[in-house]
Amino acid sequence: MKFEEYRISQVLKKNIAEKGFKKPTDIQFKSIPPILKREDILGIAQTGTGKTAAFAIPVIENILKLGRKNKKGFVQCVVMAPTHELAQQISSVFEDFSKNLPIEILCVHGGVSQEKQITRLTEGVDIVIATPGRLFDLRSQGYLQLEELKILVLDEADHMLDMGFIKDIKDLLRFIPKKRQTLFFSATINPRIKKLAYSIVQNPIRIQISPKNPVAKSVSHSLIHVKMDDKRFFLERIMNDYPESKILCFVRTKVRAERVKAAMERVEIDALTIHSDKTDDERTSTMKAFKSGDCRLLIATDISARGIDIPNVDIVINYDLPELAENYVHRVGRTGRGTQKGSAISFCSPEEETLKEDIESFIGDELPVQEINIHTYSETLDFSRDAHADWKSLIKNEEIHQKTKKRKKKK
Ligand code: ADP
Ligand code: MG
Repeated sequence: MKFEEYRISQVLKKNIAEKGFKKPTDIQFKSIPPILKREDILGIAQTGTGKTAAFAIPVIENILKLGRKNKKGFVQCVVMAPTHELAQQISSVFEDFSKNLPIEILCVHGGVSQEKQITRLTEGVDIVIATPGRLFDLRSQGYLQLEELKILVLDEADHMLDMGFIKDIKDLLRFIPKKRQTLFFSATINPRIKKLAYSIVQNPIRIQISPKNPVAKSVSHSLIHVKMDDKRFFLERIMNDYPESKILCFVRTKVRAERVKAAMERVEIDALTIHSDKTDDERTSTMKAFKSGDCRLLIATDISARGIDIPNVDIVINYDLPELAENYVHRVGRTGRGTQKGSAISFCSPEEETLKEDIESFIGDELPVQEINIHTYSETLDFSRDAHADWKSLIKNEEIHQKTKKRKKKK
């Protein structure tokens, strides 16, 4: 099957070809026909397998067939995503596919001025890609009407239906017509969320492509046993061993993200960080620098793991193992996307053994251990540009810390 053979608009076919897509991926092959028939879908497929186009292509075709209403503020399709970055990315895929078609796309998220979004809505928009907050603001102010909505899409559906977002989604459901098409897409879904998903849709959901192992086959995995305090020396070593590689490094907290960045800068490795304390502008410019390759090390917390499609990420490093096993899948899924290959390296300290076991039972496989002998291990520490000076300063810091503690006790 080729995209050429689908019964969709010629312009849409041309736009697909211009993106360099020839054949549909599995999830696209299985989802496009039923979505075109207006059926509800729960599409579960591995990371990097083209889920965005699996809904964007048929949604655009369906909206085309519905014909433009061009009514002020009334939108026909809403796509919900958990982060600004992902909303922007999905929008740009929709933009690419709807070139030269009478379809207006708008990306709506917080952190930027409302004015432009309001102007666009008054001019008439067909498809809105949004994070929940701003969508509700615009709706409650009357700039955006959902009463005539025809299609609702939740990307990263399991996350959108989970604790942080479920209230928003339930609110949204109150405002949109019961008779509509609902599409859920995700790489992971647990039984609880699946049940919830089924309760939300009217018609039974027709499709589910559930891989036993949700991790993309194009990613190779390895795990290194390393002490918590030695992790930065190993990151430094990987950065130096792979001087051409683009590396995405995940840490547990935003404080740790900044600390690891500082540690890398001490050894003259440029790094950027992305986490929830960063402003929208900072996040946008960071993503741009990493995408373009201006900076080849990005240190991130889990918020940015979902869905993001960054070209040519060669290595994902789990500097800290994720607390939630399913996040392992979303993290390592940032590499090996589309037709590319990637590797994932996890640093596991003795304290993190149980997290490792959780991940292994989630993915149904063991993470191959990369054995490091004592010699290589100490060599990694010795060769760090930071090692000697830093041990001293660490010991010094610790001494000062102990002294202040004692002093406080005396008082
Ligand atoms: P997912 O949402 O499943 O994680 P994405 O939709 O972000 O994956 O797509 C991953 C990558 O694969 C993107 O860079 C996208 O352009 C590419 N891609 C998607 N479909 C195709 C296709 N049919 N042919 C070639 N590349 C594709
Ligand atoms: Mg996706």
